[in-house]
Amino acid sequence: MLIVLLGPPGAGKGTQAKTLAETLNVVHIASGDLLRDHQARGTDLGLQARSYMEKGELVPDDLVIRMILDRMSEESGRQGAVLDGFPRTLTQAEALEASLEGLGIDQVLYIAVPADELVRRLGGRVICRSCQRPYQQDSAPERCADCGGELYQRDDDRPEAVQNRIQVYEAQTFPLVEHYRSQGKLKELDGAQAIEAVTRDLLAAVAA
Ligand code: AMP
Repeated sequence: MLIVLLGPPGAGKGTQAKTLAETLNVVHIASGDLLRDHQARGTDLGLQARSYMEKGELVPDDLVIRMILDRMSEESGRQGAVLDGFPRTLTQAEALEASLEGLGIDQVLYIAVPADELVRRLGGRVICRSCQRPYQQDSAPERCADCGGELYQRDDDRPEAVQNRIQVYEAQTFPLVEHYRSQGKLKELDGAQAIEAVTRDLLAAVAA
């Protein structure tokens, strides 16, 4: 089973993808988490991606496509995957479809959230340096409740980068909504609801 979670930055894709993958017993593959991990390890890819990520720009397609397809082939023995943050451009979507050799994506779940709510959420977000779990600053614990890691604000959650990320999303990623809708694969959910309500709607959409 291959599920793609689509939505703007701050829609809750990471949180929801983790729960969905655990519930469905498939692997969670998050392009942003993988890229931050490359940066933390100081790999060539991490170094190449850094300047784009800091500004809230997309990392070039060829780099991201190679990273995700490699990761998917490592997990090819598993029951399936939830892709979170990939694809983000039509070129990435086409590369993904080509790599699947006719097997295809089962469902694309689109978590829709209005822009003003995204700015509020991203501006108040801190994440764990180890496991990348997000928290809202005003209700965050001292350290990560899951792994005890240090919490920090991502460079690209600062106000200048947030505006750019939302614009980049609208220009480059939002067209994927129509792309998948026209293939009859897209289900749209209201991501402005509480986390548990979004999870419930996502699970219902997968089961339908
Ligand atoms: P995220 O954690 O999904 O918000 O991603 C953080 C940043 O990583 C993005 O703002 C991009 O700079 C980069 N990134 C993540 N996924 C992709 C992708 N599929 N294509 C290009 N850049 C990406």
